[in-house]
Amino acid sequence: MKNKISTLFLLLLMALSVNTMANEPVKHEFPTLPYAYNALEPYIDAATMEIHYSKHHRAYYDNFLKSIAGTELENLTMEQIFAQISKAPVAVRNMGGGFYNHNLFWQNLSPTAGQPSAELAKAIDADFGSFEAFKTAFSKASSSVFGSGWAWLIVTPEGKLAITSSANQDNPLMDVAAVKGTPLIAFDVWEHAYYLKYQNKRADYIAAFWNVVNWNVVNQRYSKLAK
Ligand code: MN
Repeated sequence: MKNKISTLFLLLLMALSVNTMANEPVKHEFPTLPYAYNALEPYIDAATMEIHYSKHHRAYYDNFLKSIAGTELENLTMEQIFAQISKAPVAVRNMGGGFYNHNLFWQNLSPTAGQPSAELAKAIDADFGSFEAFKTAFSKASSSVFGSGWAWLIVTPEGKLAITSSANQDNPLMDVAAVKGTPLIAFDVWEHAYYLKYQNKRADYIAAFWNVVNWNVVNQRYSKLAK
């Protein structure tokens, strides 16, 4: 009998702790940069990388945490927050987008570019005609962003590849996005991403970007989503 009671007590404790865990805030980690600041030279310079990562990205992260502190958004993942971003304060949209988009962007870059997998190359040919046509369309979307924003290669809910762009720190996971989907490539075309080296010549920065695209990461993201 005593044993039964202690077993019941233990079960009750376990149930309580599971319940507590469910209500625990989601932990958002500031990521480690997966390479040195100068690793992407000469295409993206070390000074830009250092300021971009340690100042800009850090500020988005810190301010995002402040923007959700003490609210029910603390219990949601980034994807869950973005799915209802139209109802959230504008600081959550700007800072949360800034935090998340840069996480993707650093992973999208590498000193060893690689190439699209056979699976992704086939999808690029099917949805854009050819790799060159894709590159041209993506570069055009990147240069057409007016002011600050991002260019994206995404997989749409229908499983197709699409190129889109967003203003400020918006992204295609947000319920406000004109074209929605899951990002494969996030490309930062804010002036802070290139101005030290390229000044007003965004086109040169876009051309340089193709030398440092981490296709391995793009391939991995695609293989998880491909239908
Ligand atoms: Mn940026």
